[in-house]
Amino acid sequence: MKPNLIKSHQQILNRVQAAAPADSILNTLGTLEIGNSRYPLVHLTIGAGAPKKVLISGGIHGDEPAGVEAVCAFLEKKFYEPYLGEWEFQILPCINPTGFEAGTRENHAGEDLNRTFHWDRPSLEVVCVKTVFDNGPFDLDLELHEDVDSAGYYLYQKDQSDSVSGLGRRILDAVETVMPLDENEKIEESRADRGLLARLKGPEEMEFWPMAIYAYVQGCRHMFTMETAGRFPMQQRIEAHLKGMETALREFSQGS
Ligand SMILES: [Zn+2]
Repeated sequence: MKPNLIKSHQQILNRVQAAAPADSILNTLGTLEIGNSRYPLVHLTIGAGAPKKVLISGGIHGDEPAGVEAVCAFLEKKFYEPYLGEWEFQILPCINPTGFEAGTRENHAGEDLNRTFHWDRPSLEVVCVKTVFDNGPFDLDLELHEDVDSAGYYLYQKDQSDSVSGLGRRILDAVETVMPLDENEKIEESRADRGLLARLKGPEEMEFWPMAIYAYVQGCRHMFTMETAGRFPMQQRIEAHLKGMETALREFSQGS
């Protein structure tokens, strides 16, 4: 029994397992063993071999549950279905299970995993995430986050080429029908244009590497770090993430 836990990672695993389509591949990249608890770090592949590859992930920050919930909803509502044959989906439902259960941004060791992708010896969660990039290169990386302090939805966009593609703006336009955008001109110290943070540093200028920068270094074409605003109800945050994912997939060919 885990009476003090806010969320159960096992419950998330059960939902992913139940919703995974018959011809998908669910594998365990590694298992965290903390005290008497075991946390399998799972990875789901749907539509293996399709021409375009997308990586979808939630829960690298444990206190941002809408990302994990949105991944489950994406599977349960079969949002991937219209894109089968076109997209191969690689899905990391909950990168930081100990943080997810504790409701903390950091993992059980107090590490913000999204700051450790440049470490020589990152912890197992990050080692496991990195192995997924061996299946790349990805066309699209969709990382589902939340911001408890923000006025509305915003996203970080990083492209492989110097010119910023229009895809981020189209995602924001679509999400705005579900959740207001953060209209501040500066968000988290970066210049923002109606929720779009697209003038981001390259890996050589960064003191730490988040997952999106690792994806960039691994040759992924378009990285999106998508942030719902924690002030809105959970269902609205899930819908904002679903709308963002759906728009990214649908609009990709026009935006790349
Ligand atoms: Zn986050």
